[in-house]
Amino acid sequence: MATPLYVNTAFENGSPLDWDVLDDGTLELRPQFDYEHGPAMNRQLTHWHFRVHGTKGQTLRLRMAPRENIYGGRRVNAFAKRIGNQMSVDAVNWTPFVFEQKEDKSIEATVTLPADVVYIGRIEPYTTKHLGELLARLRGHRHARVDSIGKTVEGRDLELITLSSGAGKPMVFFRGRAHPWEAGGNWFLDGVVEGALASSAVLDACDIGILPMAGKDGVVRGQTRFNVNGHDLNRGFTKDYDFGPHNAPENQALMEWLKARQRQGALPLLAIDLHDDDWGNLHVGRMGVDEGYDRRIALLDQLMRKHTYYTEGMAKGAGSSTFGDGLREIFGMDSVVYELNSNWLAAANCVPGSAIWREFGAQFARMLVEYVPAVKAG
Ligand SMILES: [Zn+2]
Repeated sequence: MATPLYVNTAFENGSPLDWDVLDDGTLELRPQFDYEHGPAMNRQLTHWHFRVHGTKGQTLRLRMAPRENIYGGRRVNAFAKRIGNQMSVDAVNWTPFVFEQKEDKSIEATVTLPADVVYIGRIEPYTTKHLGELLARLRGHRHARVDSIGKTVEGRDLELITLSSGAGKPMVFFRGRAHPWEAGGNWFLDGVVEGALASSAVLDACDIGILPMAGKDGVVRGQTRFNVNGHDLNRGFTKDYDFGPHNAPENQALMEWLKARQRQGALPLLAIDLHDDDWGNLHVGRMGVDEGYDRRIALLDQLMRKHTYYTEGMAKGAGSSTFGDGLREIFGMDSVVYELNSNWLAAANCVPGSAIWREFGAQFARMLVEYVPAVKAG
């Protein structure tokens, strides 16, 4: 006998949503927007993560009604043409499927429930549980250190992982999860750690610093983009920045940490902010004003193409207050925003999940063996 459909989001990273069963049995879902507290009143709906209770073997059409995000006051369709998704019975092993955009800008997917209770996630979820497992693996490792550099708005620790096999090496720094829905970056960073610790070559070349989960409150609450004060953690990086102490302590802590390294003459050689989007480009700063920067970024692009799953190419910035452009402006260091394509990994011909992203991250770490010495040599 069929059990009544039910949707549950009362778990960590579950996304608040409304739902309805239409006359033809379609399960229609309306995940909530995440709102920015700012003059543009931006809003974004990109995250969903919920649990469907139904009947094993049941074929179910899922639909999300058309929604409009707002960017800079402009309304844009919230949904891409094909949206990668993941489904799981145990919330450990996930199977990809795809939502397709319809003419009315809604999106639909038809799935067969592999069990009575099935988890569905926009991206394979990476929660504080997964972060805790990563930190536990690093605890006691002779080349790893974990410090807390501050707290989120809601008082959660902002962990900073340092991987080093000895003093005096330049650091490559990564930030993950500035935007809570973008779990791909966290899986990638798990891979960076694995790749860096798998052999001595990576840590012979450089130290690695990782702020793995900047938007932790939003991850726990299942939000899309902003911190719980409505601040975008990938904006506001200007010379006269004002993050705190109560507005965006996540960024305030990052700036204090960077300023301390600056005082020691130890700013990162390269800083990378990991994001997920529908395109997968490496977002670099303005070219043509600093020949050294242009050369290093061209090398990064070239080595990423050679050694990793990256094929999507660069998007060239025009000066903004993002992590990439902003940290370059404030500290004069090379900093980029790398957007992993959340829907499709072209080089591996698949909807990306944790395994392929970890492999990708490990490739990236190994690439540094070539990149860092080349940059040091000028
Ligand atoms: Zn992002």
